[in-house]
Amino acid sequence: MSQTEREVRVRFAPSPTGPLHIGGVRTALYNYLFARQHGGKMILRIEDTDSQRFVPGAEDYINEALAWLGIGIDEGVREGGPYGPYKQSERRDIYREHVKMLLDAGKAYIAFDTPEELDAKRAEIPNFQYDASTRMAMRNSLTMPKEEVDKLIADGEKYVVRFRIDPGRDVAVDDLIRGRVTIKSDILDDKVLYKSADDLPTYHLANIVDDHLMKVSHVIRGEEWLPSAPLHVLLYEAFGWADTAPAFVHLPLLLKPDGKGKLSKRDGDRLGFPVFPLEWHDPKSGDISSGYRESGYLPHAVVNFLALLGWNPGDDTEIMTMQELIDKFSLDHCSKAGAKFAFEKGKWFNHTYLQMLPDEELAALFKPVMDAEGIDSSAFSDEYIAKAAGMLKSRINFVRDLAEQARFFFVAPESYDAKAVKKRWSAEMPAIMGELCEVLESQDDFSCAALEPVVLKWIEDKGYHLGNVMNAFRLTVVGECKGPHMFDITELLGKEETLRRIRAGIERIQPAE
Ligand code: GLU
Repeated sequence: MSQTEREVRVRFAPSPTGPLHIGGVRTALYNYLFARQHGGKMILRIEDTDSQRFVPGAEDYINEALAWLGIGIDEGVREGGPYGPYKQSERRDIYREHVKMLLDAGKAYIAFDTPEELDAKRAEIPNFQYDASTRMAMRNSLTMPKEEVDKLIADGEKYVVRFRIDPGRDVAVDDLIRGRVTIKSDILDDKVLYKSADDLPTYHLANIVDDHLMKVSHVIRGEEWLPSAPLHVLLYEAFGWADTAPAFVHLPLLLKPDGKGKLSKRDGDRLGFPVFPLEWHDPKSGDISSGYRESGYLPHAVVNFLALLGWNPGDDTEIMTMQELIDKFSLDHCSKAGAKFAFEKGKWFNHTYLQMLPDEELAALFKPVMDAEGIDSSAFSDEYIAKAAGMLKSRINFVRDLAEQARFFFVAPESYDAKAVKKRWSAEMPAIMGELCEVLESQDDFSCAALEPVVLKWIEDKGYHLGNVMNAFRLTVVGECKGPHMFDITELLGKEETLRRIRAGIERIQPAE
């Protein structure tokens, strides 16, 4: 059956060994985009066969992160589906049966070598590898009589099952991004597929068996798994599944922002960006690692940013909805070369998406920030908060930046910027501001359109310096000489509050010497 006729079924197969890394999120995203584009299915499989590395909370974290980002799952532990269970630790019987199939077919064998015996061999033979050149000198079912093997097993001796790899073969991996990669089977060792000690398969066996049974059509995963692919090809063949083996897609690495080497958590700590989607509380060490969500990123800004790390739509379009990403995604435009993790670009995406958010939604996100900053959000109407946020959103990368930028809309100045006072508050300014109060007092319509011409005309009639007067005005209202258009500010603050602030300024600002 050719790949094109086949129903697209992809899987994201994380191991719950800690928080999902941002590279894993990108892998999940590309799987999701590919599935949706082809009207296929997205599977979430939990690969928890390595009991040593299992971390409590990691599976919930994965679910929560994917849900936050809008990466939908069709089949999985929580969603169910026709090929479950979707958690490998619940599939022991299936793996046991498949290990037996390989043993019966002579494609795998049982090995009793203890860790000490293996260490001794490594010391004896330089570059020791358990393979065709050494296996006949080891303690395994190829070198021992069947009765002895059966007896050891009956006695409860620990053993592993190893894959028997024939030397002298060219193994070809066809990767839809990289093309054909061929290696010699001689370089592969007889990989452990199953361990009797915990009655669990290793990653390789479980991964292959599940991809086959779950009818996975494309294995889309990180480049770090490319070295496992030849072994996987041989396993499909050993099971007789070569015809329906999934196509491989190994995604480019995420590189450090300066491009040298693989992105690590340390880069994030060093340069100040999260490498995890959500904040992670390490259950053992108690350490907290920052997450995109808690750092104030909008989920779709993260999705859009990640989508372009290793793929491009073929033109310079950057801002794309999830549906546009689904429509445009293509493996042909995925790169082989690693993608630099340009985290500043991530901020730009967040800034851009904040501009597109309706002011009411921005206000809803801002309210908890206000409360956390000691500004009682319930003292202001939703409309007021929305207008204040809307006026300042062009200046922010994160919702939390509004706390500083928009503070003056909620709290009258408690102090005045010293530099601005020095520059703008000359000896005659208190009197001029007093006159301004009279002008404003007589004005009932405080809209920007109505007030602005009145004030400007007064300045002109009096022959005052426009910049000096407007900046002094701003200083009393805002506390410093920056912010949005002055008459937009006064429109929102209203007459009473504006006058109160000017009068407080006249009283409290000490003219510069
Ligand atoms: N469990 C592997 C991981 O943690 C899956 C690799 C694969 O997708 O085959 O990434």
